[in-house]
Amino acid sequence: MFVRVDPNLATLLDYRYHTHWRAERGQHGKGKNMSGKSAEDVYLPVPAGTEVRDADTGEILGEMIASDQTLLVAKGGRGGRGNQHFATPTHQSPREWEPGEEGEERRLELVLKLIADVGLLGEPNAGKSTLLSVISAARPKIADYPFTTLEPHLGVVGLSDNRSFIVADIPGIIEGAHEGKGLGLRFLQHVERTRILAVLVPLDSPDPQATYDLLRREAASYSKALASKPHVVVLTKSDLATPHAARPTLRTQAGAPVVTISAVARQGIPELLEVLWKTVKS
Ligand code: GDP
Ligand code: MG
Repeated sequence: MFVRVDPNLATLLDYRYHTHWRAERGQHGKGKNMSGKSAEDVYLPVPAGTEVRDADTGEILGEMIASDQTLLVAKGGRGGRGNQHFATPTHQSPREWEPGEEGEERRLELVLKLIADVGLLGEPNAGKSTLLSVISAARPKIADYPFTTLEPHLGVVGLSDNRSFIVADIPGIIEGAHEGKGLGLRFLQHVERTRILAVLVPLDSPDPQATYDLLRREAASYSKALASKPHVVVLTKSDLATPHAARPTLRTQAGAPVVTISAVARQGIPELLEVLWKTVKS
């Protein structure tokens, strides 16, 4: 029996109603030396960010992070051995046999943890996936049209001195997301499980302040907890801003720092990572 990350899940609610899972029995062998069929593996679907523990010992069996990641939690019993296994040159029609074993039984505790340290918050096309691909080994889809990201992508960002943090790229927010418009609601559920937010505002946006205000408003309408997370404002696509044009000065909430980057031109990235690190640790 395995636990497997299902990218379509955001909660562990299903387990309230379905608490007991078991695999089918394997089948018996048949004549003509045929082995019995093994039972199908059983997969327990969980959302990314689930910690799996042995409920009796408290031992952490694994952390489920990546899409489709699997973890073996209970072994099926080994099948028995039929007569043919006991055949030798002088003992051609053995009557001996060995029964199969019972499968393992285990009580599990599933805990939904923080999915990442930093959640990227931004409208579709803000440059979230591009940024994640530049700062980590994750390879999310990048495209010119909205909603290319349908599930969270996680990337590990490594800094000097063995420092690292996890960044989640999640579907783009749209106005009305807190009411469940578009993919917004599911998106906000993911972002709720991050420590801090990076709010992405592209510099080719007609009104960066309005874009920032909209993102903050959506977060606040979703939940107080989300709105009160520390955040860093990231002005993206600086290569698209006309040179020497005055940078828009954003009025940010709670003294949130502002960092300007271009993921494509690789500008401002080390500075951004240091600011994110500091904010994660504070
Ligand atoms: P997402 O929807 O927020 O994930 O945005 P994507 O990362 O998919 O990017 C949307 C579009 O903006 C793509 O065509 C990217 O190539 C482009 N883009 C992203 N970052 C930059 C940047 O720093 N400079 C420029 N010029 N284009 C960028
Ligand atoms: Mg994307």
